[in-house]
Amino acid sequence: MNSQKFSLLPLPQAMLENLDAIGYTQMTAIQEAALPLILEGRDVIAQAKTGSGKTAAFGIGLLNRLDVKKFKVQSLILCPTRELADQVAKELRMLAKFQHNIKILTLCGGAAFGPQLGSLRHGAHIVVGTPGRILKHLKKETLSLDALETLVLDEADRMLDMGFIEEIEELLSYASSQRQTLLFSATYTDEVIAISEKFQKDAVSVKVSHTEQINKITEYFYATQNKLDTLINLLSTYKPENVIVFTNTKIQAANLAEDLQRRDVDAVAIHGDLEQYDRNDVLVQFANKSARILVATDVAARGLDIKELSMVVNYELPHQYETYTHRIGRTGRAGEEGIAVSLYNEYEESLAEEYRDGVRLFEDAQSLEKERGFMMHAEFATLVIEGGKKEKLRAGDILGALTRDVGLEGSDIGKIDIYERQSYVAIKSDAIERAHEGLRNTKIKAKKFSVWIL
Ligand code: ADP
Ligand code: MG
Repeated sequence: MNSQKFSLLPLPQAMLENLDAIGYTQMTAIQEAALPLILEGRDVIAQAKTGSGKTAAFGIGLLNRLDVKKFKVQSLILCPTRELADQVAKELRMLAKFQHNIKILTLCGGAAFGPQLGSLRHGAHIVVGTPGRILKHLKKETLSLDALETLVLDEADRMLDMGFIEEIEELLSYASSQRQTLLFSATYTDEVIAISEKFQKDAVSVKVSHTEQINKITEYFYATQNKLDTLINLLSTYKPENVIVFTNTKIQAANLAEDLQRRDVDAVAIHGDLEQYDRNDVLVQFANKSARILVATDVAARGLDIKELSMVVNYELPHQYETYTHRIGRTGRAGEEGIAVSLYNEYEESLAEEYRDGVRLFEDAQSLEKERGFMMHAEFATLVIEGGKKEKLRAGDILGALTRDVGLEGSDIGKIDIYERQSYVAIKSDAIERAHEGLRNTKIKAKKFSVWIL
């Protein structure tokens, strides 16, 4: 997956900040394909699998078009069932947090009619609902679509399967024809194409066929009296490839990394106090697998571009919910399942309670495995060569010196990062001494360089 950032789109800063806060850092494939067209105001017919992020694709589009000062129904989203309408409304509320006072109303069959009348009298900008009930409100003139800007037919194939076609047709006769119409469907049947031709103008078709899944993150919360022990038990239970552990302060970050090292777990810390070159050393070590655990503060982790983390740990709960989603959004990238664990002690209990939503798993730390003599060492160690781009060093030169002259196997050598004045070479831990000794006595490109182990 080669995803693009939302910030490439012409969206207001507040919207971008909110997307970031809810953990949407990259666009999914369907968002990348459909959003630019939607933002241009085009009618779009989009096909993508379930779970590909279609709601945000139309949601961001319609929210961007919305004028909050105009208190009329500007967007209508039709869904096949009440459950789906509720899900869409929930996602829209999350996306709409960038601005105050956007009112979103759901109108579905199977719910009492009376309360819906009350809500409609209070007004709404966005209505999400099922076709039958929306039509009923239109007929009773309790809902008006005169100011409609965006109409979305979500899960169009299912609405057709469920026999909603006549209701949809009738309902559309009430809607302003100046609108943008977006049609989303998991399949492209002849019927779907027929309603597109009937209700859309000059629609662009967007298809995303390859399988792509959105980060699946399992969130655990562990109550514990001893966070260090619990963290170590977590590592021995899940054996994650790589982990970022977040602390709230830089002192804690440094202390925790030391505590872990003392317990035979290789960890490095990054916090705001580090000089730029120290910071680089740490990041290189984590990225080239010379350290499997990075302890970080939020500020220090900003802009850190490490993908596919197997686990994120909140050693302390952050003070803000946005920080939480931001932290855990770093795991489970590229369709891989990620684990996010938050540790809390008796002082953080009430804060932790706020995270209870029925989906997050609250567990007792006692249930974790305790492995005697557990150790967690990195596969690689890092060798630094005091020479880089400036000396025109290339990865091939370093690789050649290490294999030909020093006698290492190609498989002993990992990632090579070449910077302006320094190069970092990941070497299998059991070969690092040999590599160090060897390279000190060898020339690279007919020149001797100082070499040390990080
Ligand atoms: P679809 O309608 O295509 O089946 P949804 O719109 O329901 O899929 O999205 C599936 C899940 O992905 C939702 O939990 C949603 O919050 C999440 N999601 C959508 N877009 C993104 C994104 N860009 N980054 C991270 N998560 C996303
Ligand atoms: Mg959907």
